[in-house]
Amino acid sequence: MNIVILLGAPGSGKGTIAGRLAGEDPKLKHVSSGDLLRGAVARGTPAGIEAKGYMDKGQLVPDALIAQMIKDVIAETEGDVIMLLDGFPRNVAQAEILEKTGAPIRSVVLVDVPDEIIQDRIAGRRTCPKCKAGYHVKALPPKVEGVCDKCGSDLVVRKDDNPDTVKDRLVVYHRETEPLIAFYEKKGLLRRIDGDQGPEKNAVAFRAVM
Ligand code: AMP
Repeated sequence: MNIVILLGAPGSGKGTIAGRLAGEDPKLKHVSSGDLLRGAVARGTPAGIEAKGYMDKGQLVPDALIAQMIKDVIAETEGDVIMLLDGFPRNVAQAEILEKTGAPIRSVVLVDVPDEIIQDRIAGRRTCPKCKAGYHVKALPPKVEGVCDKCGSDLVVRKDDNPDTVKDRLVVYHRETEPLIAFYEKKGLLRRIDGDQGPEKNAVAFRAVM
């Protein structure tokens, strides 16, 4: 197993890219820290109960909480698999925890999208609560409005996708997560793609550099 980290602001399209690529190639496994946390919240586990307050405010959950979930997934992933790690690490402390697991990092790909575009994108974002597929009312609409193409569930707007929380999430991204660009650049692992080419081309560009 080795890891490709997707780096980028909330709404930059990391999840869409990773979901697409994993759907096309069984060797690629999409692991989203946000989905792991939302799953724990939905199940009402102790970690989920602790995480919920932070997530609703657009803040990062404690490092140890999310790191344990990621370590568990790494431990159960075997064989010739590339893990597309989406949403973790979110700060330098988490990157150091990941390094200590000894899991090999193949590359870190920054999905680059300006903040102005992010606000618009998140406003139109719709998510399937069951299979986690992501849509956008304009850029990536489902075949039937409000219904997931893949599993037929009713699509929802994520609670933390409201404009005020999005602003807070962007502040957190610039303060906590952006330093990871220099962190991984120094290690020679960083690649960049323009994340504003549309879902199909973004995925192709990502695949080419990862
Ligand atoms: P996401 O789906 O990646 O946008 O994550 C949604 C929310 O989950 C974030 O706003 C954070 O509250 C929390 N979260 C996800 N990943 C992490 C992480 N690596 N560290 C801390 N909090 C996280």
